[in-house]
Amino acid sequence: MRESVLTPHRVDGTETSNRLLSAPPRKSSKAYNSFEIAQAQFDKVAEYLGLDQATRELLRYPLREYQFAIPVRMDDGTVKVFRGFRVQHNDARGPGKGGIRFHPQETIDTVRALSMWMTWKCAVVDIPLGGAKGGVVCDPHNLSAREQEQICRGWVRQVARDVGPVSDVPAPDVMTDAQHMLWMLDEFERIHGGHFPGFITGKPVGLGGSLGRTEATGYGVVITLREALKEAGMRPEKTQASVQGFGNVARYAIELYQRLGGRVIGVACWDQADQRAYTYRRTGGIDLAQLATITDHFGGINRAKAVSLGYEALAGEAWLEQDVYILIPAAMENQITGDNVTRVHPRVRVIAEGANGPTTPEADARIQRLGILLIPDLLANAGGVTCSYFEQVQSNMNYFWEKDEVLGKLDVKLTSAYCAVSDLARREKLYMRDAAYAIAIGRVAKACHDRGWV
Ligand code: NAD
Repeated sequence: MRESVLTPHRVDGTETSNRLLSAPPRKSSKAYNSFEIAQAQFDKVAEYLGLDQATRELLRYPLREYQFAIPVRMDDGTVKVFRGFRVQHNDARGPGKGGIRFHPQETIDTVRALSMWMTWKCAVVDIPLGGAKGGVVCDPHNLSAREQEQICRGWVRQVARDVGPVSDVPAPDVMTDAQHMLWMLDEFERIHGGHFPGFITGKPVGLGGSLGRTEATGYGVVITLREALKEAGMRPEKTQASVQGFGNVARYAIELYQRLGGRVIGVACWDQADQRAYTYRRTGGIDLAQLATITDHFGGINRAKAVSLGYEALAGEAWLEQDVYILIPAAMENQITGDNVTRVHPRVRVIAEGANGPTTPEADARIQRLGILLIPDLLANAGGVTCSYFEQVQSNMNYFWEKDEVLGKLDVKLTSAYCAVSDLARREKLYMRDAAYAIAIGRVAKACHDRGWV
């Protein structure tokens, strides 16, 4: 559904009209520090689990961090230096795993938080991988395909000795895709001499990629949502949802939710031209296939065309005020906050976190008080990393499965993880996020103890 960066208007290196535009700003960057939030979430559960001091100190911080410069000769002949990161939070349960984001407001603290969340995410779905994350401070909206390729290759050159199939396996994330992964793989293989398809996941199908990977995160959100609805005794076809985001995660989540019979009445996304977000709503529900035809490479919807198709263009935050049963935040971190959580409609009963860290602790407290069933990010969006793990297994074997087999295995993994978290939450009267953390942190702490690290 999502185009590669090598679409015809980009591969020839010509400047495009969106070259002067920029990526959506992060609400998080000033008001919230994602790493502090991740640490606070950890501290709460470490206390509940009664972890000893050494284990707490080990798990509160990443094991290793790399910060580096990536000089790139730009198309106009000048050299620009980009800032790159790789953070390896913990690898006691297996090689580090985590995506690489391209974002103008990327910070080391965001990457630290995301690497920690990856550790818990891999543990909660019980795959033998640790947590890592990477990023580059850049805005792909303003970069040609060639410049992006140079950033990818430069990123790999800086960490080529510290990442790899048995140590740390990168993947795509916000504003990176299969093409970026292929450039990175190619650079890694040039440096090390040989074929190492298990070095990176999210590769194009046919070049080491797994069928089902593109759909996996969004589908995973809905697999966990399906289980939550079962538990609530609610049939999907009786529900409506409002979604924030219209990128990779959101679109496949919408697709599967609609196949289950649910109706999405609105989606919010970033408008490049206006530099602000809009919520697009239509009575009777959105038409996914139609909206996809008026969406840009970065998940932005063309507002004029949407309006001409009968959509109302409401304020960016209107997605969370809709009279729906389900909210799916699937855009960026820190979107449901202490300031706007009071605007969540009283009829909302389920929140499925497609994005990483979309809910701040203040918002969490209110959601918990209201008894809304929150499916936390580390569980709801774990479909992506689970399928990345399947891709790595297939790449290492050089034997690739049919799509049904991949998606079937994904369903089994996520359903069983959901049931384990929900059982613990019910048994111990825990908030779902805390139950998911308790399972994940317990598993990672045990691996550290068993290895004799602490
Ligand atoms: P994407 O770049 O494909 O799409 C992001 C979407 O969010 C776009 O539609 C964009 O317009 C929208 N958006 C950005 N800022 C916004 C704002 N302020 N208001 C409204 N909409 C806004 O990204 P993606 O791959 O779909 O990832 C979305 C989230 O899911 C991120 O938090 C990412 O870390 C997380 N995630 C992604 C994957 C994956 O496999 N892609 C896996 C796990 C978690």
